[in-house]
Amino acid sequence: MENDDNEHVEPVKRIIELNDDLLANNEALAQKNAEICREHGMKTFDIVGAIGAGKTLILEKLVERLASEHKILVINGDVTLRIDADRIEKHGAKCIQINTGHECALNAYHIYNVLKKFDISGYDLLFIENVGNLICPSDFVLGADMRIVIVSITEGEHVIRKHPLLFKMSQIAVINKIDLLPHLEDISVDRMIEDALKINPNLSVITLSAKTGEGLDELLVALNI
Ligand code: MG
Repeated sequence: MENDDNEHVEPVKRIIELNDDLLANNEALAQKNAEICREHGMKTFDIVGAIGAGKTLILEKLVERLASEHKILVINGDVTLRIDADRIEKHGAKCIQINTGHECALNAYHIYNVLKKFDISGYDLLFIENVGNLICPSDFVLGADMRIVIVSITEGEHVIRKHPLLFKMSQIAVINKIDLLPHLEDISVDRMIEDALKINPNLSVITLSAKTGEGLDELLVALNI
């Protein structure tokens, strides 16, 4: 029995070592990304959240508000297609689509490739829309100045406490779709805010409706652009 247990320890340990290497490389490349963006005077934001949380619509609204005074680059991470990139581009940003295939998050290498191959001179804002997922992006920092985690109240009141890691690693948490509150009697937004601040007392927590625009001003202030 004891031997059996030992046999199981070794492969698991090896996987952890491999992952440590991978994450260390990602971390180093993320720092390089941050340097490149700083040199170009470009502020960078990594937007994470589940599929359907409202990342793309919020980005559309932000670009709409900022495009007249800023040159905006958006990197859209998706498993496939460029539907989101096309939606955002209409509002005046240059959008670069990255299809990650089987990978459930963007990593620093994806971003580095764009920064190296695309002429980023003149751009002062970079928004990165990560692949729709509340778990995988916590493994891969990208080198952005700020990470914004977006959840919607339709994901359930406990969505924040179920995913503490991303909230620990973010500077802004957006609770979206508050226009649907009258239809969701079981949801306490106050409880969601409480959960977010318990996980990370330094978070700016913003309640927002991308649909009506409520809360968008507060988000723009928090972005400190
Ligand atoms: Mg999207």
